[in-house]
Amino acid sequence: MKNNTKPLEQAENELRLAMVAKKCWRCGCFQTTVNTLKDFSAITETLGELLSEAQNLFETKRYDCLGCDVCWPAVAQNMAAEVDPAIAEGEHCATQEPETRDGWPPLPGDYQVLRFQAPVAVCTLNSDQLIDEIKNSPIEGLSIIGGLHTENLGIEHLIRNVLANPHIRYLIICGEDTRKAIGHLPGQSLVALSEHGVNENMRIIEAKGKRPMLKNIPLEYVEAFRKQVRIINQIGEVDVTLLQSLIIRTASNDPGTFAGALKDIISVSVEKADEPGRLKLDPAGYFVVMPDRTQQQLVVEHYSNRGILNRIFTADNAAALYTHIIKHEFISRLDHAAYLGRELARAEQTLLSGETYSQDRAPGEL
Ligand code: SF4
Repeated sequence: MKNNTKPLEQAENELRLAMVAKKCWRCGCFQTTVNTLKDFSAITETLGELLSEAQNLFETKRYDCLGCDVCWPAVAQNMAAEVDPAIAEGEHCATQEPETRDGWPPLPGDYQVLRFQAPVAVCTLNSDQLIDEIKNSPIEGLSIIGGLHTENLGIEHLIRNVLANPHIRYLIICGEDTRKAIGHLPGQSLVALSEHGVNENMRIIEAKGKRPMLKNIPLEYVEAFRKQVRIINQIGEVDVTLLQSLIIRTASNDPGTFAGALKDIISVSVEKADEPGRLKLDPAGYFVVMPDRTQQQLVVEHYSNRGILNRIFTADNAAALYTHIIKHEFISRLDHAAYLGRELARAEQTLLSGETYSQDRAPGEL
């Protein structure tokens, strides 16, 4: 017969640590875990009184999960699950329905966005330092890069963010997979999800983490994710150069936008731009742009709309000129500012190349 004494003792120790930490009293993880454990007679027979004491400590909830590196209630629930495995599938920390926002990615998180229309996403698991190291040099084909710390809410967020972008066709998983104290294994769980899917309780089949439950997303999302994205398993890999070249190689095999995308969750549409319509004069005046080859600089003359020269600006680069002109309010229309920026960039290029420059007229009909 199985001896439950040790896991129950460990669960008690962890709960007591949470009970003396005020931060836990107002945390969703603590409150949800205690309430969950109260539902299981295998636990209440021994820890019933302790759980009632814990409930008496509850304060108005201020946060769902504070994200502590070691969460005592989470460890306690893991221990309790060794007594009754059904406890692992009960409510626990950080499984609340996430709030989406407009735009992409729809869910906020620990990641960096590089380009929407690119085919590769990278998940660095618990190796957060890889995010900056990998994206520091521009990599064509990289869409988004971020960490993943839990195999439940974290994977749900990842699925929603990926489904909202049908251009993503590959997910490279790299970095370290575990935070041992809590027992999350998000990387292994993600690979298992891709290979085996979920069971009827939305538990990831073959996932080895403590709580691989996807409770806040429909099965349809899980299946679409498995079809859209091919997982490239590099769990444990932290070599930045190797990962960068893997991203480039992977992107070169882009199969194109996912045809089976769930249209209602794609958060960004591509709009075809209209041709310029009527051109409106800027009340602040107009500019004449020219490269000065003898001085190797750019010159901008500013005129009022009555044709009177007001100022002359010079600089050896376009950026200095347009920031100065905007700062001192010699321009008042956005379309005019865009036009000036384009002309300055063209003139700067001819300074470098030696080609002839002639100023284009602003687009649109007066
Ligand atoms: S995350 Fe866990 S350890 Fe941190 S405050 Fe919440 S219950 Fe306590």
